[in-house]
Parts: sequence; structure tokens; C-alpha cells
Amino acid sequence: MESILGYMERYDYENLFICQDRTVGLRAVIALHDTTLGPATGGTRMWTYDSEMDAIEDALRLARGMTYKYAAAGLNLGGGKCVVIGDPRREKSEMLFRALGRFINRLGGIFLTGEDVGTTLREMEYMRMETPYIVTLPASWGGAGPIGGATAVGVVQGMKACARAVFGSDSLEGRTVSVQGLGAVGSELVPLLVAEGAAVAVTDIDSEKVHAAVRPGVRAVPSEEVTHMTADIFCPCALGGIINDETIPRFDVKIICGSANNQLREERHGEAVSARGILYAPDYIVNAGGTIFDTDRLHPGGFNRERAMTNVSRIYETMASLIRISRDEGIPTYRAADLLAERRIEAVRRAKLLARGGETRI
Ligand code: NAD
Repeated sequence: MESILGYMERYDYENLFICQDRTVGLRAVIALHDTTLGPATGGTRMWTYDSEMDAIEDALRLARGMTYKYAAAGLNLGGGKCVVIGDPRREKSEMLFRALGRFINRLGGIFLTGEDVGTTLREMEYMRMETPYIVTLPASWGGAGPIGGATAVGVVQGMKACARAVFGSDSLEGRTVSVQGLGAVGSELVPLLVAEGAAVAVTDIDSEKVHAAVRPGVRAVPSEEVTHMTADIFCPCALGGIINDETIPRFDVKIICGSANNQLREERHGEAVSARGILYAPDYIVNAGGTIFDTDRLHPGGFNRERAMTNVSRIYETMASLIRISRDEGIPTYRAADLLAERRIEAVRRAKLLARGGETRI
């Protein structure tokens, strides 16, 4: 990364906070990217970064990703991220997360957070003891609880919109879908695909999860085959970077649509996969179901499951509009997703400027 301020200026970041509390060993970074749509929101990640600069860069990069994710999902939230420097297996403590909670409280609501890689709902409870600005909480604390099921529903909606564009019908009846990863999302997604009438092939490095998933309509395939087997749809729900120079020439599918984050190893792979005639459903569009579900509790009336799930199912329309943008403007879908998000932020920014113009100012 060039200088920190140079990087922030290039991508138009608002704030970067560095938090330190030596009594509890807290070293954390909070990045706020864009609050045009609402308070900056994003998970708290705990990771053993090689250097402070790596932690700062990760917080900044992830915060910007959240801006796009919320904007495209139609949520009134901006993008932010918190990273805690430390080993999540050895260095977590109640006092560390309470100290972080106090820091977030001092930000007064411009940053809201939840669990992420290296943190769990337990740490969110500790933080909630110090601040109300925690979104992801167990149901017993007024939160939405586990979100993998809602993410799975969103992925299926995205898949149906893709199927409509590619096969002329959004029915998944008789379609073959290969699923990589049977964790919180994949295990919920497989029964949904079976209920849609799809023929599902599954794989996981954990053989117990594969065993639990196999049933009529679901067969197991070896892990190393899943990226080049013949199917209508490949559904990556495990690793990032799965769309890359090695896999692109070998894919034998029409659609790639799954929950895994950062599926394109590099941006150029978005062009390459599209040049192979494969419709790629941008990850942050189709995996937003959990976030949409989870953040429903920020509504003034509190969490409403029915409204939350209705909003999750709108991923179908979001995916359909970005396919339209992609086709009309001759750009790959990953770029159309960014455009959709940027256009919404710009429209709200203009509306806010107009509204402010009418105010009396001192
Ligand atoms: P998880 O950790 O519960 O499950 C991941 C599964 O992938 C595990 O069962 C693991 O054994 C398997 N796996 C790992 N490497 C594999 C390989 N090489 N081949 C086959 N299987 C492999 O994670 P999750 O919560 O189900 O999330 C899956 C993906 O979706 C992640 O990339 C995550 O960031 C993303 N995501 C999840 C949610 C959510 O609601 N949980 C929301 C948005 C995005």
C-alpha cells in the first residue's frame, strides 16, 4: 500500500481508528469507508497479522467491500470493519472484547459491528455489555441468531435469477448443481435445492458432513472433482479464490453461484470466466441474505422475521437487474454489481445534498 492517507483518498474513506489498551492486550483497527447510506457496519475479525500495516490494509479493504454489499442489497448502512490483532485460539478474553466494546461505544453509533472470522457470538455478548452498537447477537440477547439459513435462501434466489437468464426459466427442477462446502451455509442450502427438484452433487473435506448431506437427490463427489465436473450450476460455499487461472479453463458449467466470499482470485478472473460463457453471480450480491436477515433488528420496531425473509428473497430481483446491466452495457457481472452499488450511493448522496440545501444553516 502507498501511504495510508493516499490509499484513503484514492478510495474515498472517511475514518481510520487505531485502538490500544495495554492492560488487556487490545490492539485493533476500525476503518469506516462510506456512511452516505447509514452508519458504517461490518464484522469484527480477529487474526494474527504479520504486521500492523497488514491489519490496517485488511480493515480498509474489507470496510470498502461492506459499503458495496449493503448498497447493492438495498440496505441503509455504510461500510466499516474492525480487525483485532491477535491469535483467536489463544488471545481472546472477556476483558479484551469489553475494552473494544467501550471503544466502539465512544464512536457513538457511527460504527456497528458483529461476528466475523475469528470471533463468535460469545465475544459479541462481551462487547454488548459495554455498548448497544452490536448487530449480531444470539436470539437470547435480542439478535436474529444463526444466519446461515438466510444466506442459503438468498443464494437459491440468486441462482434462480441466473437460471432464468441462462435457461429461460427460473425453475431448478432437473438442473444439476455441484456444491462445494457443507458448513453453516452449504448444509442449509442442499435441502433447499432438493426441494426445488435439483439433482445435487456435494463435497466437503469433512467426510462426516458429506455423509450427513447424502440422501435421495444428493450424491457425494470427491473434493478434487467438484470444480471440473459437468453440471448446470457450480455452487462454491467453502473457499475464496476458487475462480482462478487453473479452474476457469476446466469449469464445465453454465452458472457459478454460491456463498463463498471473494470467489474471484483477482478481478481479471471476472472477465475471464465471463469470456468462457459462464454466468458468474457476484458473491457479495448472492451471499447477502444473512446480513439482510441479521440487520433487520436495526429497524425501529425491532426484528421481524417475515419482513427479514421477504427482503432476503429480493436477492432474486437484485441479481436479475445486475444481469440486465451487464448485458445492456456489455460488462462482466462483477463490474455490473459494483455499478449497481455505486449508482445507489450516488443517488442517495444527491438526494441528501438537495435536502441539506433547503435547511437553514448558521
Ligand atoms: P463454514 O466454515 O461453516 O463451512 C465451510 C465448509 O467448507 C466446511 O464444512 C469446510 O470443511 C468446507 N471446506 C473447506 N475447504 C474445503 C475444500 N477444499 N473442499 C470442500 N470443502 C471445503 O462456513 P460457512 O459459514 O458455511 O460459509 C461458507 C462460505 O460462505 C465462506 O466463504 C463464508 O465467508 C461465506 N459466507 C457465509 C455466510 C454465512 O451466513 N455463514 C454469509 C456470507 C458469506
